[in-house]
Amino acid sequence: MTKEGELPRIGVLALQGDYAAHAAALREAGAQPSLVKTPDDLRRDGQSLDGMVLPGGESTTMLKFLESHGLFEALGAFCRTRPTFGTCAGAILLAREVRHPAQRSLGLLDAVVERNAYGRQIDSAILHAETTLDGGPLEMVFIRAPRIVEVGPNVETLALREGSPALVRQGALLAATFHPELSSDRRVHRLFVDLVKSGRT
Ligand code: GLN
Repeated sequence: MTKEGELPRIGVLALQGDYAAHAAALREAGAQPSLVKTPDDLRRDGQSLDGMVLPGGESTTMLKFLESHGLFEALGAFCRTRPTFGTCAGAILLAREVRHPAQRSLGLLDAVVERNAYGRQIDSAILHAETTLDGGPLEMVFIRAPRIVEVGPNVETLALREGSPALVRQGALLAATFHPELSSDRRVHRLFVDLVKSGRT
């Protein structure tokens, strides 16, 4: 729980991928980003960070870095107790099960995710979809996106792509198969910052 008037300090996993865009988006949404590359970075000034963003990029590469930096277990333990937002590769890292091909994951989000489910890089797309968030349709930038093929009963779908969940929430976990940090609309990051502020887990 962050104190009123204090900017929430949100970690951004910065091993690979578009973490700089997330840091900028978090700042615009009223949070203080803090780059995380080692287990020690999960704390700053002797205090635990308030939440975590796992960015897009290449989940297999991130996984290798997580393991070689000794961060896989520490990050899993952190994200189990703090609001966490995974986008694209980050959503893959959060999922309970990863397919196409199968790979290790943190297993926090009750969802099954199929990687690169919409084709290769050339099939990346910008779409607009209805969302349960206030303010009308949401721009969604997809880059070699995964598809969420199954979700558990506690997972709420906030937006869809072709009938599959594209933005989901499970308590204080948020996951997007697209890249909200690459659009100018900050509704998704604001939603996450609100989750962090309310300190829900
Ligand atoms: N295709 C990537 C993966 O499987 C995800 C792409 C992205 O994060 N934009 O990890």
